[in-house]
Amino acid sequence: MIIAIDGPSGAGKSTVAKLLSKKLNFEYIDTGAMYRALAYKAYINSIKISEKTVERMLCNTKIDYFNNSIFLDDENVENYIRNDNISIIASNISKFQIVRKKMVDLQRLIAKNKNVVMDGRDIGTVVFPNADYKFFITASMEIRAKRRYEELKEKGISVTYDKVLDDIKARDENDANRKISPLKKADDAILIDTTNLDIQEAVNKIISIALEG
Ligand code: C5P
Repeated sequence: MIIAIDGPSGAGKSTVAKLLSKKLNFEYIDTGAMYRALAYKAYINSIKISEKTVERMLCNTKIDYFNNSIFLDDENVENYIRNDNISIIASNISKFQIVRKKMVDLQRLIAKNKNVVMDGRDIGTVVFPNADYKFFITASMEIRAKRRYEELKEKGISVTYDKVLDDIKARDENDANRKISPLKKADDAILIDTTNLDIQEAVNKIISIALEG
């Protein structure tokens, strides 16, 4: 069984997907981490992003995801990929066809013969158009920026709300307007707007739909 959870950054997607996978005892697969791992490799090797350079890098890159962790060339890079530099690079490289093809193939392989909750941008539209359940989780841009800002502040990272809002806007633009597999709600996905819901309310809503069908 496949549960696809898509939506823009900061809508609460991954928190909801993780809780849901625990509740259902399904495997959780974070596809954003795959794009981030590749972005991290480009970053640490100071690679100037173009289709050519990314293609070359991709030829000798191994990405894997298991036990809730992302592995880049056999190293667990889970702790290095969540900062805003990497977010922007991930968004920039994820527009290339060659990158998307490799990631989509990998995502289908990982989910084979398993019960999974997979979160991303194109799971319900491209990776698993026949998923058993599809959810599209969103929230207003301002509330998404506010949540991200609070999260960064809690981690002791100094940043302004306006900078966070600008980053979210830029990523939304990139992800929604790219030619290949743009961020888009599948026609048959259930829309969950978390602007006025807390995480637990969003999870409860999704669980009641997924369990009760
Ligand atoms: O979900 P997360 O914010 O970690 O994803 C990082 C970036 O990876 C996104 O901004 C998007 O550009 C890209 N991505 C994608 N397709 C997915 C998951 C993530 O293009 N299925």
